[in-house]
Amino acid sequence: MNLDLTASLRQHFGFTAFRPGQEATLTRILNGQDTLAILPTGAGKSLLYQLPAYHLTGTILVISPLIALMQDQADRIARQGDYRAVVLNSTVEMHDQAALLETLGDYRFIFTSPETLARGPVLGALRQLKIALFVVDEAHCISEWGPNFRPEYLTLKNARQALKPGVTLLLTATAPPQIARDILTKMAMAPEQVATVRQSVNRANLFLAVHPVADPLAKQHYLQALLPRLGGPGVIYFSSRKQATMMANWLEQTTSLQVAAYHAGLEPVVRYRLQTQFMQNQVDVICATSAFGMGIDKNDIRYVIHYHIPAGLAAYTQEIGRAGRDGQPALALLLYAPGDESLPELLSQTELPAPAVLEEVMAGRVAPTVLGPKADVINFYLHHGVTPQQLQQLMAQQSRLAQQRINEMLGYVMTTACRRQYLLHA
Ligand code: ADP
Ligand code: MG
Repeated sequence: MNLDLTASLRQHFGFTAFRPGQEATLTRILNGQDTLAILPTGAGKSLLYQLPAYHLTGTILVISPLIALMQDQADRIARQGDYRAVVLNSTVEMHDQAALLETLGDYRFIFTSPETLARGPVLGALRQLKIALFVVDEAHCISEWGPNFRPEYLTLKNARQALKPGVTLLLTATAPPQIARDILTKMAMAPEQVATVRQSVNRANLFLAVHPVADPLAKQHYLQALLPRLGGPGVIYFSSRKQATMMANWLEQTTSLQVAAYHAGLEPVVRYRLQTQFMQNQVDVICATSAFGMGIDKNDIRYVIHYHIPAGLAAYTQEIGRAGRDGQPALALLLYAPGDESLPELLSQTELPAPAVLEEVMAGRVAPTVLGPKADVINFYLHHGVTPQQLQQLMAQQSRLAQQRINEMLGYVMTTACRRQYLLHA
C-alpha cells in the first residue's frame, strides 16, 4: 500500500512523528496482515487502531478488560469528532442493550469486554457487521503464563472465528517470547501468519535495585526511613491485601506522608476515588496488591517498591514499568528477606479445592464463594465444559507455573550480574 502514514498522522492526530513501533505496525495492518504489537506502556498503542479508521472500511471492534479503559478510549474518539464510538458492557441495562444492538451499525468503533462479547445476542448482532479490525487490548490477559491471566479471554478465539474480521491486532506491553507464543496458541492463530512488532522494554531511566534485609520487621523500618527521603508519588506492592492495608495505616501514622491501601477487595467507587486522588497528588504513596495498575496513566511515579517478591518476571517488569514514564529518573526497588519465596500468599494457588467440593458447586448445591479468591476462574472453567478432574489438573499445572515464576524472580534477587540484562533476556 502506497500511503503517506505520517501525513495521515499529522492531519488526523496533530502529531509530528510516529513513536517507535507505530509505523511498522500500521503498515502491516493496512496491508491486511494480522499483527501482534508488543510495545511499552505509553508507546501509543491506541493509535494503532484509531488511525486505520481513516483508511479501512468497516467496524473497528476493540476488546479490553476494564470498563474504565473502554470508556476512556471511546471518549477520546468522541472528542476527536470524526467517528462515533460506543461501549458495550455489563453496566448497560439488558433492555437498553437490546435497543443498542440494533443500532450497532451506526458506530465506527465498538468497545467491549470478553464477557459481553461471549453473549449470544451480542455476537449475533456483531455478525451482521463487517468487522474490519478485531483488536485485543492487553492481549497478555489471554496467557496463563502472563501476570494478569483472565480465563474469559479464552473465549476470544471463538468470537474471532465467528466474526471473521479483516485483520486481527493483538496489543500488549508485556510479552516475553513464551507469553507471545501462548497468546497466538490461545487465539488459534498460526505464528507464521502473524507479524510481530516488538519494541525493547529497556527503560534506561529506571534504577533497578534489590535491598536484602534480615527479617520482615526490618523492611518496615527501612521503608519508614526511606520513603520521606524519596519524595513521591510512589507505589509499594504487597502480595496480600491484609499486609498492604496494615502497612498503609502504619506509614500514614508514623510518617508525614499521605498513604492509602488499594486492592480488589475495595468497593469500585472507593478504588476509583483513590485513583483520582493519586492522579491529583493528594495521596503520596499507594500500598497496593497487583490489582493496582492497569489503566493507571500517571507519568510521574518516582518509585515502585516491592515489599514481597513479585509473582514472576513478567509481572515485575510490568509493575516497575509504571514508574518514570515521564523519562525522569525513577527507582524500582525490591525488598527481600530470606524465606520470602515461600510466602503462603504466593503459593495459595496450590490450595486446590477438593473434587467433591467442585462437584457440589457445579451442581449448584453450594455457592461458588466457597472456592475462595479463585472462584471466578474456577466458575468460568466449570461453565465452559471443563470437568472437575480436568480442572484439578489445570490448577496443579498453574501452581507448577507459579513456582517456576517465583524461581525466576529468585534468580533476579540473587544474581551478581547486571539486573537489567537479567530482566531483558529472561
Ligand atoms: P499505550 O496504550 O501504549 O500505553 P496510549 O495509546 O494510551 O498508550 O497513548 C499514550 C499517549 O501517547 C496518548 O496521550 C497518545 O495521544 C499519545 N501518543 C500516541 N502516539 C503519539 C505520537 N506519535 N506522538 C505523540 N504522542 C502520541
Ligand atoms: Mg493502552
